[in-house]
Amino acid sequence: MKTIFILTSGGDAPGMNAAVRAVAKVAAAQGVRTVGVLDGYDGLMDGRFRELCQPTDRGLAVIPDLDTAGSLGGTLIGSARSARFRTPEGRQHAIARLSAAAGLIVIGGDGSLTGAHRLAHECGTPIIGIPASIDNDIGCTATAIGVDTALNTIVESCDRICDTAISHRRAFVVEVMGRQSGYLAMASAVAAGADAVLFREQARSAEDIIRTVAQTIRTAFESEVGKRRVLILKAEGVDIPCTSLVRRVEEELQPVLPGVEIRATVLGHLVRGGRPSFQDRMVAARLGRAAVVAVLRGESDQMVSWLQPAQGGQPTEDPSVFRYPIERVLQESRALLDGSSPVTKWRVKMMSEVSGVLGL
Ligand code: ADP
Repeated sequence: MKTIFILTSGGDAPGMNAAVRAVAKVAAAQGVRTVGVLDGYDGLMDGRFRELCQPTDRGLAVIPDLDTAGSLGGTLIGSARSARFRTPEGRQHAIARLSAAAGLIVIGGDGSLTGAHRLAHECGTPIIGIPASIDNDIGCTATAIGVDTALNTIVESCDRICDTAISHRRAFVVEVMGRQSGYLAMASAVAAGADAVLFREQARSAEDIIRTVAQTIRTAFESEVGKRRVLILKAEGVDIPCTSLVRRVEEELQPVLPGVEIRATVLGHLVRGGRPSFQDRMVAARLGRAAVVAVLRGESDQMVSWLQPAQGGQPTEDPSVFRYPIERVLQESRALLDGSSPVTKWRVKMMSEVSGVLGL
């Protein structure tokens, strides 16, 4: 019986389980068995596997937690970062484990896709990537598994923080994950009604940031409108730590707004966990299906991506799902992070256009 191997790798993202479930079910519908590789590339090299779904004469033999896992965050089959897999010797062990497989599906971020690309070059087994990263920092796709859930968590956290901020007339600086990419901060700032947003791609000096935050708070609390809260979203990639930022802004404002209360909240790993949203489950299921189709056609070194249906383009079976060579994806991911991508330029331009009115 044909067997598809599947692994989750790198940073976990809500919706990974939904993708694993979709792959197992869609493969089973084709009479194909799915085996989960435990703990990413480490488990692949060591041969640590778990049967997920196998068509039998009496129907499907499915592990009991597969159906319920689809609605859980994290990853049922475990994830890991593997230094060994970066070496050709390590990858030789992985190649040996895949010799009888119909294909390997890798669910993960930029690093995991880089690993998949290397492996695809060295191995005859079809390898297909599925983008999963809460940071939305993967090229050639409008979203990755986990982004929508992370944004919903941030927006809900900000709404809760604002309840208490309004009650006490306080300012809050809320830091969200995104060392390289400020997407989560930008997108959630708009949805949460933030007064300002700080992200690495703005390339601002610490002094400029402190001045901007102080001015935003001063304008809000001095204004005749009588604002009762200030919300500032900060991406993790902005070098100045949250607590230092708050201390410096308080010092700056002391002469003009004595007693002003500013608090820092770092959401950190809270944003990674939680039940996947409908959108993440739906995207995961459709990308999972497309990955199985691609593997069974013998395609390799490709990533399935989620994009707006092309206007007037060649229709596919699923109009929102496309396939790109992983090499192109990795090039675009680099451009997203170094700022040369039109997508990053557009994001920064859009945020700078509204920066003057965010706090109104
Ligand atoms: P993410 O997939 O979330 O970006 P990482 O960057 O940590 O997470 O990458 C996950 C794993 O992918 C790494 O631990 C490593 O095993 C593998 N990987 C990353 N880059 C490479 C590379 N250049 N060559 C081979 N494997 C890589």
